Amino acid sequence: MNLLLLDTHDFIAEDQVLLRGRRLQHLHDVHQASVGDLLRVGQIDGLMGSGQLLELSADQARLQVQLDQPPPAKLPLTLLLAMPRPKMFRRILQHCASLGVAEIILINSYRVEKSFWQTPFLQPDSIRENLLLGLEQARDTRLPSVRIEKRFKPFVEDHLPALSNEVLSLLAHPGSATACPRDVQRPTLLAIGPEGGWIPYEVDKLQAAGLQPVHLGERILRVETAVTALIGRLF
Ligand code: SAH
Repeated sequence: MNLLLLDTHDFIAEDQVLLRGRRLQHLHDVHQASVGDLLRVGQIDGLMGSGQLLELSADQARLQVQLDQPPPAKLPLTLLLAMPRPKMFRRILQHCASLGVAEIILINSYRVEKSFWQTPFLQPDSIRENLLLGLEQARDTRLPSVRIEKRFKPFVEDHLPALSNEVLSLLAHPGSATACPRDVQRPTLLAIGPEGGWIPYEVDKLQAAGLQPVHLGERILRVETAVTALIGRLF
């Protein structure tokens, strides 16, 4: 945890917060903090700054905070992601938050196992928790937005063309003719497929919606690795 993230309900005064639970435990176990220490803090979806420990016990920590710095800029990236296997999904959420992805859209695909949509990790609280872990890691306060679009065809036909219009729109697909561009410096939409890959029908539909197929080289990467490799290459 490189940034202590504060929620509105942590505030007991305009400039004081009270922490319990996981973050308190972390202060004891990892930071081995003591009264007087200065820690980096940030308000979820708000400013970052510093917090001085005024009180620390087994039950709670009280900090005086000063929030005066903006969080880092997000990447101008919308990730259209075929719903991954649950364990991988959690980690991908964390990676995306750490890397600065602005928006994630989860979509169905023929090769997404139906059971993946039943995972408790799709509950709003769980999505938020994993995004917060990623933000704490990278020192950012702003939660990426996560949208769930379970139906492939209506989303791709009716909504995707408006999103892909006027931004660089890419479809990561091994074996495509074009190599994925580097250092693009412009708003981008990137679609990443499921473990089994996109089926030809889906590639056609995504292309018809304005996405250009690109490859990352001849090595087939796991979804989790492909996400980080593609983002690193694009930005
Ligand atoms: N067996 C599948 C591989 C799927 S890998 C196939 O051959 O299509 C899962 C997803 O990660 C892919 O749908 C793609 O979006 C991305 N990916 C992995 N390796 C890639 C590569 N070398 N080039 C482009 N995309 C890749």
